Amino acid sequence: MSDETKYPEHEKLRAVHDQTLLLSEFYDWLESNGYHLARFHGHTHSCYEESGSDGPGRPDADGLRWHSGDRMCGLRTDVLYSYGVPPPSQLFGLYFDIDPKKLSAEKDAMYEELRATNRAA
Ligand SMILES: [Zn+2]
Repeated sequence: MSDETKYPEHEKLRAVHDQTLLLSEFYDWLESNGYHLARFHGHTHSCYEESGSDGPGRPDADGLRWHSGDRMCGLRTDVLYSYGVPPPSQLFGLYFDIDPKKLSAEKDAMYEELRATNRAA
């Protein structure tokens, strides 16, 4: 098995390296010119006083979670908020569909492989 199929998330990361550099430059340019990313808030089950994955109340969009009681987030859906916008590295990962959990698991597997190689040597 080649490293490419063994570590697919790292392979994706490597494939978009140049594009990530360009995006990173653009992001820096935006910030240095006073442009900042913001997003509209969309209420989720966690915005409500009572929420859970099983039980009574109104189901969320995914149908798996529910909420009831008062909405506690205090946010509006027609206002742009700059907080909660992921940092650039995380945004680029989202854009390129790179799963941070899988990436981290692959990293752990690489270290484990290295340790096993060193033990065998
Ligand atoms: Zn909310």
